[in-house]
Amino acid sequence: MPDKLSAATGRPLQHLAGALPELRTPAPDWKLFRHEPQPGCHHCTARHPGGPVVQLLPHHRYVCTRHRIWIGPPDVTDLTTSLDTLPEVVHAQRQHLRILQRHGWAITYDAVLTAILICGQLWSLPETENGDAWHDWIRRANLLIPPGTSESTFSVSRLCAAVYPEAVALASRLASPYWKNRPRAAP
Ligand SMILES: [Zn+2]
Repeated sequence: MPDKLSAATGRPLQHLAGALPELRTPAPDWKLFRHEPQPGCHHCTARHPGGPVVQLLPHHRYVCTRHRIWIGPPDVTDLTTSLDTLPEVVHAQRQHLRILQRHGWAITYDAVLTAILICGQLWSLPETENGDAWHDWIRRANLLIPPGTSESTFSVSRLCAAVYPEAVALASRLASPYWKNRPRAAP
């Protein structure tokens, strides 16, 4: 069947597998992917001849590090979220991938999601209780969602971008085997 599809379209199987994960050998680990397709980096897909492109992206892909574009989570429809002024967010994606390499996708997914929720909770507390991180979140949020433009620029995903560097730093601690073994050590 894949060979027939390749012959019918005139495209090598490995090119088709780039767009159709079902054709990949070995088969992908489907749990590694988000449950819905979304727009990816618009620079990466700009040359695609078929118009706007949606992609099934893995849980650990938040930033296109090549073009410094914020990608996910998938609630942004207008993906022009440039990170040119926020290099620490791009750097955090690289750190996120290192957690993935060290601990695997499941632990990384749980750790990053939990860390984002913790940072969101800390953000909601008074300024004096949160120090430098609180100021960084406000600074980044003002760049990503400029004051007075929230009707067109607000998205929860962009708030995730604002806390992403601290969330990934926290996630690397949460993913540590120390926490995994901790409950067993309890009396
Ligand atoms: Zn890109």
